[in-house]
Amino acid sequence: MGNLIVDGKRTDGRGILDLRPLKLEVGSIKNAAGSAYIEHGKNKIYVAVYGPKDSHRYGTSMEKAVIRCRYHMSPFSTDERKSPQPSRREIEISKVIRDALESSLILDEFPKTLLDIYVEVLQSDGGSRSASISAASIALADAGIPMKDLVEAVAVGKVDGTLVVDLSDKEDKEGEVDLPIAFMLNENMITLLQMDGKMTVEEFKEAVKMAMEAAKKIKEKQKEALGKKYFEKVDEK
Ligand code: ADP
Repeated sequence: MGNLIVDGKRTDGRGILDLRPLKLEVGSIKNAAGSAYIEHGKNKIYVAVYGPKDSHRYGTSMEKAVIRCRYHMSPFSTDERKSPQPSRREIEISKVIRDALESSLILDEFPKTLLDIYVEVLQSDGGSRSASISAASIALADAGIPMKDLVEAVAVGKVDGTLVVDLSDKEDKEGEVDLPIAFMLNENMITLLQMDGKMTVEEFKEAVKMAMEAAKKIKEKQKEALGKKYFEKVDEK
C-alpha cells in the first residue's frame, strides 16, 4: 500500500474517476444468434449468445427461457498459463454474470427454451466479470431477446485509502477493496453487487455513486455499438 496513487494519478496515469479505454462491438461472431466483443483496459472478451432454442431437457421451464452462462478464461489470458479446467472462480463468475443479466430480460415469451451465453476471455486485466456483463447485455440485445434495460457493470474500489473507479488488475490485487457492481440504470436497479475488502457505510454510498456515473458512460458506448450495427445498416439502404 502507498504507491498506487501518486499526486492524484494512478499507476496507468488515470485520475480516480477515469475509466480505462473502452471499445465495444456488436455482431462479431457470425454463427451466434447474438454476439459482442469488448476491450476494457487490457481485457479482451468475446460473448456469444445461442438460442432461445427449444428444449425438453431436465431443467427447462414451462414458464420461461432458462439461461445458462459459461465464463471461461483461455489458458493464455493471464500472466501465467491458467489451467484449462473450469476453476471454482470461473463457476462462480458464470453464475454471477447469469444472475446479473437475468433480471433485465423478458423471458416468459420463450417457455421451454434454453438460452446459452458463452463468455470467452482472451486476455484479462482485472474487472473481467464486469466487462463480460457489459458485453453480454449487448450480445443479448443483438440476439433479439426483449429486455427492460441494458445492463452495465464496473468494478470500483479503494486503493491507498482512496475510492477509485474501474480497478486495473494491479489495483484489484494490491488495493484494499474490490467492488464490482452492475446496473439497470433506467430501472434504478443494481443487478450485481460483490465486495472483497472493507469500507465504511459512507465510503460504500460514495463508491456506488461513482460506479453509477461510470455505468452511464459505459451505457453510451453500448448504445453506440448497437447503433453502429443496426442504424448504420438502415441508413445504407
Ligand atoms: P475480475 O476479473 O472480475 O476482477 P477477479 O477479481 O477474480 O475477477 O480477478 C482479477 C484478475 O486476476 C483477473 O481479471 C485476471 O487478470 C487475474 N486472474 C484471475 N484468475 C487468474 C488465474 N487463474 N491466473 C492468473 N491470473 C488470474
